[in-house]
Amino acid sequence: MKVLVVNAGSSSLKYQLFDTSDNSVLAKGICERIGIGGEITHKMSGRPDYKETVEMVDHTEATKVLIRVLTDPEVGCISDMSEIEAVGHRIVHGGAYFSESVRVTDEVIAKLELCRDLAPLHTGAHLMGIRGCIAAMPETPQVLVFDTAFHQTMPDYAYTYPIPYEMAQEYQIRRYGAHGTSHRFVSGEMCKILGRTEGTKIVTCHLGNGSSISAVKDGKVIDTSMGFTPLDGLEMGTRCGGIDPAIVPFIMAKKGFTPDEMSNFMNKECGLLGVSGLSPDCRDLGEAVKAGHKRAALAVNILTYQIKKFIGSYAAAMNGLDAVVFTAGIGENRDEIRAAACRDLDWLGIKLDPEVNERTKKQGDNVCISAPDSRVLVYVIPTNEELVIASDTERIVKEGRI
Ligand code: ADP
Repeated sequence: MKVLVVNAGSSSLKYQLFDTSDNSVLAKGICERIGIGGEITHKMSGRPDYKETVEMVDHTEATKVLIRVLTDPEVGCISDMSEIEAVGHRIVHGGAYFSESVRVTDEVIAKLELCRDLAPLHTGAHLMGIRGCIAAMPETPQVLVFDTAFHQTMPDYAYTYPIPYEMAQEYQIRRYGAHGTSHRFVSGEMCKILGRTEGTKIVTCHLGNGSSISAVKDGKVIDTSMGFTPLDGLEMGTRCGGIDPAIVPFIMAKKGFTPDEMSNFMNKECGLLGVSGLSPDCRDLGEAVKAGHKRAALAVNILTYQIKKFIGSYAAAMNGLDAVVFTAGIGENRDEIRAAACRDLDWLGIKLDPEVNERTKKQGDNVCISAPDSRVLVYVIPTNEELVIASDTERIVKEGRI
């Protein structure tokens, strides 16, 4: 089945066209500057990138442009729009309404509207993307795949915040988590490697610009580091992660920040960038650490110490540990961060193979980086959220589920 995977942002729409018969990506690209101009960049392996500047007033126009490019005899890869049998949409926040992927109906769209409050920018953009695809391809089934869905199995004591219960209910304040599609993919791969799902205890570390760690027991999430929003948990590229909540009103009073300004500050000016004063990117920080930059080293040390603490606390939450998985930009490529996070965890049964760890970067395969005598397996597993979206979409459309 040919499935178009769509990730709609407020002024952009990323796409990948999958052939699910062999999970190959036929083409991928991005429409940018939607509503303020318009530009498409279209990529196919073995061909030069195709770029075109063309007006896109909204997401419907952007979808029409990408279909025209996909079906173009020169730069495209399909002969007709009808070859796209389904569309799968990445959705950042499904609230407590969605615990699995669903086919789009009016009722589903109405429920997604209720999630606007929880992720206003993302949800608004997703709705525009969904409506744009429906308008451009009215006959094609559409499926939604949620970043929060995999975390819906958390027990109430893990997702409830200690604030008045009625208030939490009224405003839907609870831990939702994020990157669920990635945690689901890599924990699923790890279960295949372990040869079972029941009885498994896995910690999955998705470390990128945004980072989160999950405890996955018997194939189900029991806790995760991101919370009500993707600001909680680990220190990230520019996000502060979990800090003492009293710091928030303290800084607001000192700096005279409004709630929006404070939110922007915590999302854009903190994390690795804020501590190092240099860069949010671990590549730059790695170089700076080698050159003796103290604050770059501090920024990285904070992160690796936090990763270690999450691994330890989630091992306690699961009463044991079979495997730790590293994924995403940092998890897949930064051996020094994996090494520091796993250092001195031998009491927990974690022992890396330093040589294999050091040479494991930019690889396409799952690699075991733990030593042969390590009781806990440690793996680098490249994530593939788009593939999960394509497979879920195919399954749901084939099942004819509404
Ligand atoms: P996002 O969360 O935006 O998808 P990524 O998963 O690409 O981001 O992660 C970005 C982080 O991963 C950066 O800190 C970057 O330094 C690191 N990273 C990504 N790719 C590489 C690479 N090939 N080599 C080294 N570091 C990388």
